[in-house]
Amino acid sequence: MEELSAAVRAAADDGLRVKAVGTGHSFTAAAATDGVLIRPQLLTGIRNIDREAGTVTVEAGTPLKRLNLALAREGLSLTNMGDIMEQTVSGATSTGTHGTGRESASISAQIKGLELVTADGSVLTCSDKGTAEERAVFAAARIGLGALGVITAITFAVEPIFLLTAREEPMTFDRVTSDFDALYAENEHFEFYWFPHTGNCNTKRNNRSAGPEAPVSRFSSFLEDELLSNGLFQAVNSLGRAVPSTIPSIAKISSRALSARTYTDIPYKVFTSPRRVRFVEMEYAVPRAALVETLRELKSMVDRSNLRISFPVEVRTAPADDITLSTASGRESAYIAVHMYKGTPYQAYFTAAERIFTAHEGRPHWGKVHTRDADYFSTVYPRFGEFTKLRDRLDPDRLFANDYLRRVIGD
Ligand SMILES: Cc1cc2nc3c(=O)[nH]c(=O)nc-3n(C[C@H](O)[C@H](O)[C@H](O)COP(=O)(O)OP(=O)(O)OC[C@H]3O[C@@H](n4cnc5c(N)ncnc54)[C@H](O)[C@@H]3O)c2cc1C
Repeated sequence: MEELSAAVRAAADDGLRVKAVGTGHSFTAAAATDGVLIRPQLLTGIRNIDREAGTVTVEAGTPLKRLNLALAREGLSLTNMGDIMEQTVSGATSTGTHGTGRESASISAQIKGLELVTADGSVLTCSDKGTAEERAVFAAARIGLGALGVITAITFAVEPIFLLTAREEPMTFDRVTSDFDALYAENEHFEFYWFPHTGNCNTKRNNRSAGPEAPVSRFSSFLEDELLSNGLFQAVNSLGRAVPSTIPSIAKISSRALSARTYTDIPYKVFTSPRRVRFVEMEYAVPRAALVETLRELKSMVDRSNLRISFPVEVRTAPADDITLSTASGRESAYIAVHMYKGTPYQAYFTAAERIFTAHEGRPHWGKVHTRDADYFSTVYPRFGEFTKLRDRLDPDRLFANDYLRRVIGD
């Protein structure tokens, strides 16, 4: 900690900017700097587990997978998480990484306390208790975009480990969109993938269960998760990149390749899965009530265009939360994520999709591709000014600035 404070002070004295990086999984240049880069490798591990309070405090550079494994060994778990667990806890939460949930929100919303080194080198701790200033920092720094300081430790709410039953089932686009409200309301975690150029979706419903544990069989895991979702999917995407005209036919086949299956396992094994096929992604949160209309507009845009898209569109939800710049801040949200296989031109697709998302007051994921700037954000985030005023107080000289922050929150 002293070393980190000293590094921050030394950089300030030398007129250099400072940026902490996680595992570099963001699709934006959120962690880029021309100054001092703080890497997370030596800031890892669990500091403390408080069973009575139901919390765990971890060093900021701890990878989520290490946290999940350590918690499981202790009979504990986070409540909700995203699709993968490669990221660091601080990198994931700084951009608002989320999974899907009806009541349970993003990983950032599971934070109970934060410790960070601010621009003057001092260590600031905050939670929803304490002074008004500490509460203001807590409201913003859970999704701080790296703008408020270098996070050194995070305290998460945890609960006794539980089982989730996952039901994966193909469904038509028409049925998912017409039944969306019921599918959302009946499940603790509902999500689906729509395959462009088809009327097909894969749905996934995760609900808590009394057990018994019934993990995905090794054969199904190999066939569906390794071969179809990674190995074959990679080959099919490479073919599509080389010969785009094959994509619609391939999409029709691959959207039918995965069959229905049900399994029961501990949370991180149900929520997360290996993602080995490389892609570029844009994701927007829209008000949940606008999801179906937004998605239908996206589908008709794709149908009318000559775009060729080999990657499914992912749809998830989140309840409203109280974090200043959370994509779900103060509003029930649905996320729509569009992807393009790495190396395929994505601008035309993303530009057209972004036009649709922004017409529904969409808020882009802070770590994924988007073209919005501070002027836009001040219109879609009612508490935007709260964040920038706090930044003025904590980092008046913009020690933690970079080009990305200049664009999204201003100078
Ligand atoms: C394959 C893949 C799957 C993904 N799945 C999901 C998903 O399911 N849901 C979702 O919401 N997102 C998802 N993402 C996006 C990803 O979770 C975010 O981009 C996340 O921020 C990456 O974490 P990281 O550790 O790599 O951080 P980086 O990308 O390295 O950094 C992200 C930000 O955090 C800041 N930061 C890092 N450490 C600190 C620190 N100690 N103090 C202050 N600021 C810090 C950086 O400065 C930067 O602004 C996915 C990305 C990929 C590539």
